[in-house]
Amino acid sequence: MGHQLGTDLAAGFVCSDLFTVIEEFAKFWKENGIGKVEWKKKDSMELAICTSQMSAGEEDRQMLCPFEEGLLEAVLKKTLSEQVSVKETTCGGKLTGAECVFKIYLP
Ligand SMILES: [Zn+2]
Repeated sequence: MGHQLGTDLAAGFVCSDLFTVIEEFAKFWKENGIGKVEWKKKDSMELAICTSQMSAGEEDRQMLCPFEEGLLEAVLKKTLSEQVSVKETTCGGKLTGAECVFKIYLP
């Protein structure tokens, strides 16, 4: 999920450095009014994604985490390496404004 969009999105990114890619990703998230993306723990590659402005129903929110995970993974695969993987480590739940934490695994 989110892979096609992630691939399209990554095509617009010119960077190949993880932190720059995340910056671009966060900018996209913000500019499209989805919410905010920020580092939870930069050392351990943990990223917090918040979808505060998304007016989604409960069912949509259940789809959101796998979607975000897939989207982020696709972007990183495209810009950095095919070996990158992303896993959600902490789920903020289904409430609006909840923050989910995703861990990035580099090869
Ligand atoms: Zn979640």
